[in-house]
Amino acid sequence: MPQTLKRLIDLIAFLPGIGEKTATKLALFLLRANGAYVKNFAECLSHLHSDLHECARCHAVTDRTDELCAICRDPRRQTSVLCVVEEYIDLLAIERLSLHSGGYHVLGGVISPVNGILADDLHIKSLFTRIENEPIDEIILATNANLEGEATALYITERLPRAHEVKITRLSRGLPNAGYIEYADDVTLVNAFRERR
Ligand SMILES: [Zn+2]
Repeated sequence: MPQTLKRLIDLIAFLPGIGEKTATKLALFLLRANGAYVKNFAECLSHLHSDLHECARCHAVTDRTDELCAICRDPRRQTSVLCVVEEYIDLLAIERLSLHSGGYHVLGGVISPVNGILADDLHIKSLFTRIENEPIDEIILATNANLEGEATALYITERLPRAHEVKITRLSRGLPNAGYIEYADDVTLVNAFRERR
């Protein structure tokens, strides 16, 4: 096999959920594909890290040209309700269904001592700073409903700054697939959000 093709297959096979067979198929697809498409694809990949960064307020992914993401900049969003999620993908799942009209805070993971991830490795300090400084009435702790997600939610609840009364809610149980928001079907996610308590 030509070196370049082998390299491409290895790079594609590194992606999550993709085995060598699928990687080979995709690499050959790219080889046969329209030149402009492949060039566009490569260019997008090469700018991925340089063109994007984290929102300075909520840590969602945003264009590097903007300090704040589109949600943080939107004056129509309710600033009193803050939804705390583990990852940006959870924000996307919630936004796709228009379940939440307030702001977000992306933690960047969960507390997981087994994997060497401690509270200080996550965006928890900046969450507390926001709670102290923004007019927030409710915090929806939308971490996944598994052991680590629950432990992270508990950690935040116990250390929350009590400058003013903040209502804390949790998505209702019943999320399938070990409680992952990103894998929940639409109806389940809508109900988990509606029946939060
Ligand atoms: Zn933001």
